[in-house]
Amino acid sequence: MEKLSTIQVKEMVLKVADKIIREEPKLSSIDRKIGDGDHGIGMKIGFISVKEELDSKIYENVGDIFKTTGMVMLNSMGGASGVLFGSFFLGLFKANENKRFLDAEGLAQGLDQALKDIKKRGGANLGDKTMIDALQPAVEVLLENQSSSLSVALEKATSAAETGVEKTKNYVAKFGRAKNLGERALGYQDAGATSIYLMINEMSTYTKGE
Ligand code: ADP
Ligand code: MG
Repeated sequence: MEKLSTIQVKEMVLKVADKIIREEPKLSSIDRKIGDGDHGIGMKIGFISVKEELDSKIYENVGDIFKTTGMVMLNSMGGASGVLFGSFFLGLFKANENKRFLDAEGLAQGLDQALKDIKKRGGANLGDKTMIDALQPAVEVLLENQSSSLSVALEKATSAAETGVEKTKNYVAKFGRAKNLGERALGYQDAGATSIYLMINEMSTYTKGE
């Protein structure tokens, strides 16, 4: 697909929510290895609340959908990761306020904004074994493909995010509970990066009409 209408953006966010809810056991088990095991639960709580909120309303523009999604995640998940994952959608809101469609340019600008906000809030950088290791390579690819169709841009961003998740296995954590493990965290992928990959992959699947 070239771009998505407001109705399609809502449908896509609901698909992302369903995907993360289904993957809760996998995300929790990844977090159990080097964190405290609650990542899947936190994400699930956030996306169940998002579904309840989005389902009951009609939206006039894509910005309002992203704003609602980000605010609901921030408020329902709580803690640091609520703010960080809320920022993913709030970045998309900031770049697409009042827009009635989402294209590759809007997605690239929105996730670039999200990446900047997440780095500012959390202080992490590439290689620190966090969600940034999946998001930053995806954003780089999206910025290079702003004139592509949304589906082509997302397909490329998905493989960049997937490679990013794989690389987190080689990193020692600088943030969160995995930090205390030092080199014992080597060999394990980061939970938050895995969530980012799953979200982008589900967006890609939606735009391919699968
Ligand atoms: P908590 O760490 O409070 O248990 P979660 O388990 O829900 O929260 O989320 C953990 C994930 O959050 C990590 O896998 C990592 O990707 C991400 N994360 C943690 N701290 C930061 C940070 N400062 N910046 C970016 N992402 C972070
Ligand atoms: Mg955790």
